[in-house]
Amino acid sequence: MPSRAEKLTRGRTSSGIVAQRLLTSAAMVGIDMSGRRVVVMGVTNKHSLGWAIAERLIAAGATVGFTYQGERLKSSVEGLAEGLEDCPVLPCDVTVEEELSRVFAELGERWGSLDGVVHAIAFAPREAMLGRYVDTTSADWVTALTVSAYSLVAIARHAEALMNEGAAMVTLTYYAAEKVVPKYNVMGVAKSALEASVRYLAYDLGPKGIRVNAVSAGPVKTVAARSIPGFMAMYSKVAEMAPLQRGVSHEEVGNLGLYLLSPLSSGTTGETVYVDSGYHVMGMQLPEE
Ligand code: NAP
Repeated sequence: MPSRAEKLTRGRTSSGIVAQRLLTSAAMVGIDMSGRRVVVMGVTNKHSLGWAIAERLIAAGATVGFTYQGERLKSSVEGLAEGLEDCPVLPCDVTVEEELSRVFAELGERWGSLDGVVHAIAFAPREAMLGRYVDTTSADWVTALTVSAYSLVAIARHAEALMNEGAAMVTLTYYAAEKVVPKYNVMGVAKSALEASVRYLAYDLGPKGIRVNAVSAGPVKTVAARSIPGFMAMYSKVAEMAPLQRGVSHEEVGNLGLYLLSPLSSGTTGETVYVDSGYHVMGMQLPEE
């Protein structure tokens, strides 16, 4: 079966020289991350979006390391990392400054420098997502914003000295930052702060050649997602309304993360990029005629 590039170029040239050139260059546009070191922060298990990005990074030849929150997740993350070369697996609660200092000191000693950071961390107390946003307590608001948004700022500050020119940071966000998604409540507000932080961090770190972007993923089944009240309804709604009429896979989220960490996206920073089957472009749904 002819590829799309072959079909496009057929008929434009009898000699096929243009087609040949396109096909050759297409084969050359791979993503080679060999020699690049990326730390992925916030992996629980093989369903985590952090792991989805890590898998694609590893497939592209990158050296990856992981951080996880607390002893409870140690064996799960060590199991995922088994067999990977030069792969640090370190505990890190991102709300504790000393733990961030220790992690980046250890990465500095072991790797010398960094080419990428993945921030795949969020948390809000469940009670804050059960009722109305208007009833959010100050304590729950601070917890959600501290863990889910401020942590990116703290991580950027600790990672800055280690990051090479051309390094990139990627975080994960959700459409509820921009529009009301019932039940998402304070987590939507945290994601708004996260996306705004991406823009300010891109401005601060840009002069050093460091990029900062967010992947806005449609609903994907993970531990964090399943803890959101009504998640399965959100999940089904996307497939019903999105232009592609389906949800997105872990691999599709991983691919976008890989692209934003790679030199292929060297001109993109401060951006929120969607991988949601196009759901966010819809303004209205009408019944089938
Ligand atoms: P996940 O596998 O549960 O990952 C979330 C991670 O954040 C967990 O490993 C969690 O650890 C960690 N975390 C929470 N508080 C922390 C802290 N204080 N210090 C360090 N780590 C902490 O779920 P996920 O869906 O892949 O979430 C990753 C990111 O993707 C989140 O920002 C989420 O909002 C975002 N996202 C997810 C979806 C989706 O549908 N899944 C869609 C859009 C965006 P514990 O397990 O110990 O709490």
